[in-house]
Order: sequence, then C-alpha cells, then structure tokens
Amino acid sequence: FLSRLRRTEPQLKSFLYVSPEDAVLKQAEEIDRKIRNNEELGPLAGVLAGVKDNICTSDMPSTAGSKILENYTPPYDATAVKKLRENGAIIVGKTNLDEFGMGSTTEASGYQVTANPWDLSRVPGGSSGGSAAAVSAQQCAVSLGTDTGGSVRQPASFCGVVGLKPTYGRVSRYGLVAYASSLDVIGCLGSSVADTGIVLQAVSGHDKFDATSSKQGIPNFASQFIPKDYLDSKPLKGLRVGVIRETLADGVDPDVISSLQHSVSHLEDLGCTISEVSFPSFSLGLPAYYILASSESSSNLARYDGVRFGNQVFADELSSLYGDSRAEGFGSEVKLRILMGTYALSAGYYDAYYKRAQQVRTLVQKSFRAALEENDVLISPAAPSVAYKIGEKKNDPLAMYAGDIMTVNVNLAGLPALVLPCGFVEEGSSVLPVGLQMIGAAFDEESLLKIGHIFE
Ligand code: GLN
Repeated sequence: FLSRLRRTEPQLKSFLYVSPEDAVLKQAEEIDRKIRNNEELGPLAGVLAGVKDNICTSDMPSTAGSKILENYTPPYDATAVKKLRENGAIIVGKTNLDEFGMGSTTEASGYQVTANPWDLSRVPGGSSGGSAAAVSAQQCAVSLGTDTGGSVRQPASFCGVVGLKPTYGRVSRYGLVAYASSLDVIGCLGSSVADTGIVLQAVSGHDKFDATSSKQGIPNFASQFIPKDYLDSKPLKGLRVGVIRETLADGVDPDVISSLQHSVSHLEDLGCTISEVSFPSFSLGLPAYYILASSESSSNLARYDGVRFGNQVFADELSSLYGDSRAEGFGSEVKLRILMGTYALSAGYYDAYYKRAQQVRTLVQKSFRAALEENDVLISPAAPSVAYKIGEKKNDPLAMYAGDIMTVNVNLAGLPALVLPCGFVEEGSSVLPVGLQMIGAAFDEESLLKIGHIFE
C-alpha cells in the first residue's frame, strides 16, 4: 500500500496529509509483535485506513479542506478515529474533500483537486472524493468519509468502490467538523461490502460525547458475510426490493439506467421480489436539502472567527478581524452557502424557505416510511451520471447540485444506504463505473450488507 501510495499520489492528490512512512511502519511492527506474542488483535489489525480531513485526528492536521483551518491540529481524536485505532487500524493520512464537505467533485477543496483513478481527467466525486479515490487506487484498504447529502455514496459510485452511509446516529459525530448537523453522518468506504461492514462494526455505537448518537444495539454485521459457495441458488428468496420509479426518469444517463435494469434482473435471479415504488416528493428533496444544509451550515460556520481556530488576519478593529479572517479563509462555495443559508433563515423569508423545506423533509420521511413498509430495501442509481470531466460543472453550481438528486432524500430521512458498483460505461477511451444505491429502513444496515454482499 505504501509504495503504491508513494507512486500514485503525485497524480491523484487524494491526500491532504500523509503519515511519515516510519510512523506507519512502527505501528505495523507493533502489530507484528502482538502476533508473535499471541496477543489479541482487533478486526482491523494492520489495516491501512484513510480518514477524511473533516474528521479530527490528534496527531495530524485536520483542515476540513479549508484554508481557515490551515495547519490546525485538534487536541483530540474523533470517536470514529479512536475506535478505528482501538480495532487495530493504522491511519495512513487525511483525505481531500470539498471545503467543509460542500461540493460534489473535490474541486471546492481549498488546497487541491483529486483525480479519478479510472480517468485522471475526471472528478472522483465529492465531497469525500479523496477517500473514494484512495480506496479505488488501493492507496489504503478502507477509509472514512462523511455524508451530509451523498458525499460518501456519490464518490463511491464515481470511483467504483463500496460506500456505506449509516443511519443517522449509528456513528458518533464527535470530532466531525460540522457542516449540517441534522444531516451529517460519518460513513465507510472499502473495496468490498464485507470490508465496509467491518469498518462500520468498528466505528458504530453510542457515545456520551454526541447526544444524537443512538443507543440502538449493534448487530454482528460480519454474520452476513458467509462465503458464497455455501449459498443456495436463490439466497435472497423472499426479499422485497422496490425500484424507485422517479429515479429512472429523464435527465438520468441512459447507460446508468441500463446498468440499473441489469442489476434488477440480477436481484431477481437471486430470489428477490421486485416491485416499482412511486415517490412523488422525490424531486422536492433536492431544493429542500440545499435550503436546510445551507441554513445549518451558516450557523455552524459562525464559529470560524479568526480567534478560536486556525487562520487569523490581524486588524485594528475586532469586527474587521472577524470579517477579514473569514473573507480570506473561506472559499467561494462556502461563502455562497453561508449567504444562501443566512438569507433563508432571515426574518421575513423564514416561512417561505426554511419552514417549507422542513415540511418537505417530513413529506420525504413519510414517503420512505410507506415505501419501506412494503419493501425491505429500495433501489436507485447512486448518481444520474458517471464521473464527469474536471471543470465541467465548476462554474455551474445548479448543475452540480442537481447531480445530488439520488442521494439527498436519504439524509433528509436519516436512513442507511449502501452504494456498490453495478456496471461500467465506456466513454471514449475510458471505462467508468456505475453505482447502485440500496436504501434500507432505519438501523437496518444488516439487510443492506447482506444483499450487497450476495449481489456483488
Ligand atoms: N454535494 C452535497 C453538498 O454539497 C453533499 C455534500 C455532503 O454530503 N457532504 O451539500
């Protein structure tokens, strides 16, 4: 892994920080020692993990992709990082992202643009583009990302890896740099469903430092990963799969639709009962998401005032110190979100935007509840297209936001969803992966992992 990372990183730029090799090797030697002494090993012993740079690490900078946090090293590990380490993982570095998680390509990173390992002229997706590219190029075995509106799932789809967004509350957000707190979730990426499930097992669980983390019991996810030779010919017999009709509509790449249709026949062959589900509020989720996420972010980002964290621009007046530090430290996408969010929350507009968006959120939750009463899982494409060219949507924020249509509803409802490769599209001389999204009932990651493992 280390030599591949060294070789590929100059082109890919997946990492904002890479641990010194001797620090990584020292941890590996410690695991070797434990093996020799027959000491107990965690399930991730010696596994190299990348961590998205908006998740705090006490021994590495954590910038959230923002210049306002340049060189900032937090005094503590996020709970998810602490748990990865307790399970034996070695953190190899901090992966690139769109600033504070705001974006779908990594082009909005304050530092660098990550390339897609399948075609270096294309985006890896975002905002967890670095985490997805690093696993796809095997610079590390697994990684942590975060998913506020699709940031684990869409890059997993663009980079041909597996990405899991857990139920809201399954994984502690303590030490996650907040973007939109009612939507933010730490998620897992890996090159197989089993790898992703093992990481989920490691990072799940209640945490007294995060009041929204759930006390729900954690199943043994690994029990789903039985070797496939032991399966009968219809291992998914009786499972009800609903295809969300509105996700196969106009505006979705025809190659993506045909990959999805192939997946549906594959699921049918495995024994699933397939039905079509109608989700009338589906397209309303996108504007509602952008209003809510921007509103929450405008409030969360108020803490970056040049005094408590990171970059400070000196000024005579305190208000100029705040203003200048923020003007210099935040990138343009972040400023756009703060402006949109502040506008949506301001007196006189609150009812028209924020309140209505909350009403849509309730509608989306109800639609999912109804659909998941009739079905064990719902499926859709993970994104309306495959990875596009770097720069293609950079100056058209609305086109980029529209690409999140498949994923944002899941965050509004707090549900778990798994994305895994389900086909390929040829574009010119490139072969690009297509991702399938499976959405489950709250806290039912088990069904997703079971179906995903058998499907892949
Ligand atoms: N692309 C979406 C946004 O910019 C989702 C980002 C995320 O999930 N962090 O808000």
